[in-house]
Amino acid sequence: MNAQVNTQVMAAPAVVGHYIDGQLVVTPGATRQPVYNPSLGRPVREVILATVSEVDAAVRSAKAAQRAWGRTPALQRARVLFRFKELLVQHNKVLARTLSEEHGKTLPDAEGELTRGMEVVEFACGAPQLLKGEFSENVGTGVDSFGIRQPLGVVAGITPFNFPAMVPMWMFPVALACGNAFILKPSERDPSMSLLLADLLTQAGLPAGVFNVVQGDKVAVDAILAHPDIAAVSFVGSTPIARYIQAQGVQHGKRVQALGGAKNHAVVMPDADIDAATEAIIGAAYGSAGERCMAISVVVAVGEPTADALVAKLAHRVKSLVVGAPDAAGVDMGPLVTSIAQERVTGYIADGVKDGAQLVVDGRGVQVAGREAGFYVGPTLFDRVATSARIYREEIFGPVLSVVRVPDYAAAVQLINRHEFANGTAVFTQSGSVAQAFIRDIDVGMVGINVPIPVPMAFHSFGGWRSSLFGDHHMHGPEGIRFYTRLKTVTQRWPEAKSVQADFSMPTMK
Ligand code: NAD
Repeated sequence: MNAQVNTQVMAAPAVVGHYIDGQLVVTPGATRQPVYNPSLGRPVREVILATVSEVDAAVRSAKAAQRAWGRTPALQRARVLFRFKELLVQHNKVLARTLSEEHGKTLPDAEGELTRGMEVVEFACGAPQLLKGEFSENVGTGVDSFGIRQPLGVVAGITPFNFPAMVPMWMFPVALACGNAFILKPSERDPSMSLLLADLLTQAGLPAGVFNVVQGDKVAVDAILAHPDIAAVSFVGSTPIARYIQAQGVQHGKRVQALGGAKNHAVVMPDADIDAATEAIIGAAYGSAGERCMAISVVVAVGEPTADALVAKLAHRVKSLVVGAPDAAGVDMGPLVTSIAQERVTGYIADGVKDGAQLVVDGRGVQVAGREAGFYVGPTLFDRVATSARIYREEIFGPVLSVVRVPDYAAAVQLINRHEFANGTAVFTQSGSVAQAFIRDIDVGMVGINVPIPVPMAFHSFGGWRSSLFGDHHMHGPEGIRFYTRLKTVTQRWPEAKSVQADFSMPTMK
């Protein structure tokens, strides 16, 4: 393995390597894969793909470093995270530019993603408070009992392309704050952010080996899943892979949280403020070209008059959206991440037409001047979508919004509760009692009341239900602390008298 130290990675390197034991590692002869600028439609650099031996090296380094890191006082660990947060603020512009270049989201959207990630770092800075245990005095005469949460050891995160900064930051700040060492396997489609984050953590004073990055694909993922020295795996990505990660991880004795795909419905009630709902839905459906796990992809319009008014307003706004280069001013939507994603989404649009849905705005064939080879699909709107249609049943992960018409509130709730995915949902209404009923009735993990993208703040936890999450723990917030620690319960006595009689019955507090 050919290791070279890079202390200032702040520009994405031509070859995106691993980050192991505080060093940038580019393995000679490793398999390489192109990394695209999706707006230009051409490769801008290459990423190398790990084999089992690089994963082994990362785990060895992490295991050795974790011993001291896990014993470092929580306040000192938090101080590293405080410095990391300051560096994220300081380098915000360059981070956002790299993120946008490889992903295709607009610069303001990339900055928003970084802010949401930073909020988890801020949350994790509270480690000393978050890791405080529980104590019961005098549970029996002269006996105290207390519970403490200790780190798991080496943990890994496998992340998707659509949030190359925020999703890793849902995981590693909390894992590190709890005293674990972390191995990140980012998406091979936009891998550079992982190295920038590793570099900033090193600059913040994180000891070598506590945070490692292995670039790669299924080979690296399978090596992580099978590795006996990795105690837990956090995953975010599509549902088939999430299912696989959970099954394999559990089979190998690991703690697993695996977040999957989504199909988020927004219910619009007849009493809703239609103008406000339209604006909220437009941003939530087409922001980041629909490549968000919390994007609204289905509008459930309650009653025909609501549906007619809403579709007219949505159509007007969709036609006004600006599709363009992600780094240009005034652009609402950039390209999709790859040509494969572009083909998949245009294929879904064709399917929607075939299945009888009414195509109100067609985003196929959109052209962006100077970006003719970019992976663009324009914003697309379907009305009168049947629940049997593929565009309703499956996750499209692109700028395609479907309107489903239902007669009443009960039908809306039933529809949502029957869908395979249950990540997020929202209701637009001016009625407190409808909102209360919705909160009670809906079987979905994250719920918005007149809030289209109810992504919880860092100090709450993020996660869906049904096929949107496999495992018991949601991410960050209190659930994140529980996921990355294990409970030890201590019962202690300091007897004054030396002589204690053996007792062969089950101990009880007399
Ligand atoms: P993906 O499932 O293709 O990839 C996710 C990760 O898994 C990547 O690191 C990838 O390298 C790895 N991977 C891919 N194929 C694999 C295989 N066969 N075996 C082992 N590992 C494999 O997902 P993506 O396209 O990068 O991201 C988009 C998906 O992520 C969407 O479905 C979206 O809904 C989902 N997502 C969900 C959430 C959430 O919070 N629930 C958040 C963001 C994204």
